[in-house]
Amino acid sequence: MTAFLDTHLQPLRDIFGEARVLWQAHDLVSYSFDASFGSYLPDVVVQPLTTDEVSRLMKYANRHLVPVTPRGHSTCLSGGPLPVRGGIVADMSRMNRTLTVDREDLVAVVSPGVLTAAIHEAAEREGLMYPPDPSSSQVSTIGGNLAENSGGPRGLKYGVTKDYVIGLEIVTPEGEIVRTGGRTVKNVTGYDLTKLIVGSEGTLAIITEATLRLIPKPQATETLMAVFDDLVASGRAISAILASGILPAKIEIMDQASIVAVENFEPCGLPRDAEAIVLVELDGHPAAIRDEIDRVRQSCEQYGAREVRVARTAAERNELWRGRKLVSPAIARIKPTKISEDITVPKSKIPLAFQRLKEIRERYGLHLVIFGHAGDGNLHPNIVADKRDQGEMRRVESAVADIFALAIELGGTLSGEHGIGTMKAPFLELELGAVGVEMMRRIKRSWDPNDILNPGKIFAEPGQRLVLTDE
Ligand SMILES: Cc1cc2nc3c(=O)[nH]c(=O)nc-3n(C[C@H](O)[C@H](O)[C@H](O)COP(=O)(O)OP(=O)(O)OC[C@H]3O[C@@H](n4cnc5c(N)ncnc54)[C@H](O)[C@@H]3O)c2cc1C
Repeated sequence: MTAFLDTHLQPLRDIFGEARVLWQAHDLVSYSFDASFGSYLPDVVVQPLTTDEVSRLMKYANRHLVPVTPRGHSTCLSGGPLPVRGGIVADMSRMNRTLTVDREDLVAVVSPGVLTAAIHEAAEREGLMYPPDPSSSQVSTIGGNLAENSGGPRGLKYGVTKDYVIGLEIVTPEGEIVRTGGRTVKNVTGYDLTKLIVGSEGTLAIITEATLRLIPKPQATETLMAVFDDLVASGRAISAILASGILPAKIEIMDQASIVAVENFEPCGLPRDAEAIVLVELDGHPAAIRDEIDRVRQSCEQYGAREVRVARTAAERNELWRGRKLVSPAIARIKPTKISEDITVPKSKIPLAFQRLKEIRERYGLHLVIFGHAGDGNLHPNIVADKRDQGEMRRVESAVADIFALAIELGGTLSGEHGIGTMKAPFLELELGAVGVEMMRRIKRSWDPNDILNPGKIFAEPGQRLVLTDE
């Protein structure tokens, strides 16, 4: 038993009972990592089921100055749920009892531990749609999506999580329960605390319930795959589609390294010799999107697509998407360490971003794979490496710094959807400037004066830099 447990185990058991306070080594290890880099052991894990328990937890932690790190299903790619200062991990995934859909008000009310995919299914059963669709939706919780303001392929047409949240129930770092927003789309009463909390990466409040806006499900879908011999030309085709007045639901890209990784992992019949594959999905009225898909085909051909396939059936559509869905698991098999970035650039800069990313790959001789939500400029340059190779990891550090500098130079952003967490904190000032960062620090201080809720995230310590080696 550690000194921490000597002091805090019994008071936490008084709130959660014995079964929902985990403190043995094997439990702590399984709560020490996410899908990014690095691992930090918590001192103890608690599993709240109710808002009242979360409130009691935060009042206790605030009184005793113990860090609390909220956590969903730890699929975060920026280090958000890592307990970097130890203390308590609050596993919110078991708080998953509420999932109701109201057809009349076009809203869903959800507990934070509900899986995103379960919300999609519940909405679709009512002929409705919850548009935000992170690729991790089968395994991520809505609480994590809200905290990260997650996006996904449909972000191009439908926006991201924050565009669909109209009300929250939250617990502040001092243990107060607050309701923000409500069930109406229009609401301008006071500061918009809902939007402040969404995307705050679990640093300002713990979300205990959310009211989400739903929309009618589109009547029909068309999907097209275009094959290019030149990555930069595929970027030009994407810019042309977007400039033509058509707004696809999704435009996704896979570069040659992703194509080859997928074919080695689970063959899908993708052309290994192509430099890029672009997938375009349109949704809406059947007659309108039939016409639009022809125009998308023409744009692709005009910019050098050597082959364009349009899915004729739902099965063919799923087959076209299969390869894209396999990219993440496929590249994870190449080497054991995966660094996933999610810079976003203005649409007009997509071809240039592809060109410059290719140059970064060559400059550092790294396995850099490019795929992502190209239509909204949200690219996922992923570097696969081996963290035991310290020389390679030092080159990864330099390449990551160059990728961030590129995003800012092109007028873009460090993160389109994965958040800042620990991984991008040293680069925050690059985008926001010193005053911008200071204004955000002041917001953090006013909500969390004792810095106990998810400390060590978003804001870097003085002199902190990205370190991926053991130095
Ligand atoms: C294969 C793969 C594909 C992915 N695809 C996408 C994608 O397409 N788009 C995208 O945006 N992201 C994507 N992600 C990233 C990740 O899935 C999202 O960030 C997701 O929202 C995290 O949800 P989670 O339940 O795993 O949360 P966690 O990873 O456990 O936590 C994420 C953050 O949320 C905070 N948090 C969790 N619950 C709460 C709560 N109740 N209250 C307050 N804070 C809370 C945590 O402290 C942490 O900062 C992907 C990840 C993987 C591994």
